[in-house]
Amino acid sequence: MPLTPETPDSSDTPEPDDDALFGAPYGELRPRRSPTARLLIALAVLAPTCFAGWLGWQAVAGGAPATPAAAATTQAAPVTRADPATPATPPTEAPPTPQSAPTPHPTTAAPTAAGRAPADRPLKGRTVVLDPGHNPGNGAHTAQINRTVDIGGSRKECDTTGTETDAGYPEASFTLDVARRARKILQAEGAKVVFTQDGDRPWGPCVDERAEIGNRAHADAAVSVHGDGGPAAGHGFHVILPARVVSGKADTASITDPSRRLGLQLRNSFAAATGEPLSSYLGQDGIDVRGDLGGLNLSRVPKVFIECGNMRNATDARHMTDPRWRQRAAQGIADGLTAFLTGKGR
Ligand code: ZN
Repeated sequence: MPLTPETPDSSDTPEPDDDALFGAPYGELRPRRSPTARLLIALAVLAPTCFAGWLGWQAVAGGAPATPAAAATTQAAPVTRADPATPATPPTEAPPTPQSAPTPHPTTAAPTAAGRAPADRPLKGRTVVLDPGHNPGNGAHTAQINRTVDIGGSRKECDTTGTETDAGYPEASFTLDVARRARKILQAEGAKVVFTQDGDRPWGPCVDERAEIGNRAHADAAVSVHGDGGPAAGHGFHVILPARVVSGKADTASITDPSRRLGLQLRNSFAAATGEPLSSYLGQDGIDVRGDLGGLNLSRVPKVFIECGNMRNATDARHMTDPRWRQRAAQGIADGLTAFLTGKGR
């Protein structure tokens, strides 16, 4: 039958997509197909392929918006994880809301900031003074550190040796390590960070010089880092704000308000980053106010102390001797400073 009707899908015809896709010659296998039929076959084959490709692209493109959510979950994790013993939400101003912490993840914050263009760093052009309390060499220089200095209306010892854990981990080692970790984070955020001592001098400096270093640097904020030597049964951290002291060389009138804002932010950020409870033995809601500290009395820039924990308490001592906890402490300090300086605190 010379005029056998042509059926493109006849059983002896190879699968059309082979030809359509690979360009096999039509002549021998389907001599009687019209160009229109060929085009339809090609479209029929290509359409699902393209659709599948589109679906794949959507899957990839659709994954992008999910990344921040995943990151947020990751960032929030340390706060949640930090906390078998989550501190009670501090009841005074600006209670902590860890989810909105600016850089709550200790391991991602620095690389993220470091990856920014310098102009995008939130602390660009800002100066921060970190004051690691005491000095590992103070114990060998008692004559120097015991002489008194003017702290504004009274005199006090130049410096002290600081406390230590029952196992002998010195406060001066703790403060230096935490401050160095915080410096890295803050520098990645664009800040200029000035230390009062960096383990680079045999003792001190004296408390009056510690304040003066912040004043000379025209610091936007200063934080003195300490570990407390409280009663063994007491635990937790607290922040010390400058009292209003106007006496002799001391005049804190202009710094009490901004120092309070700094201190509250620092308290909230430190609690969020570490999970450390507020002090159970000192202060109110993790805040103490003192007028007997030369480092605060003589400051002309917003300044607070943080007692990161009680080194004489077994639980706090275990935390403070753990480098991973110290990294979280440093993150909390950096977060508090960043939030204070950018006005993006809670
Ligand atoms: Zn101290």
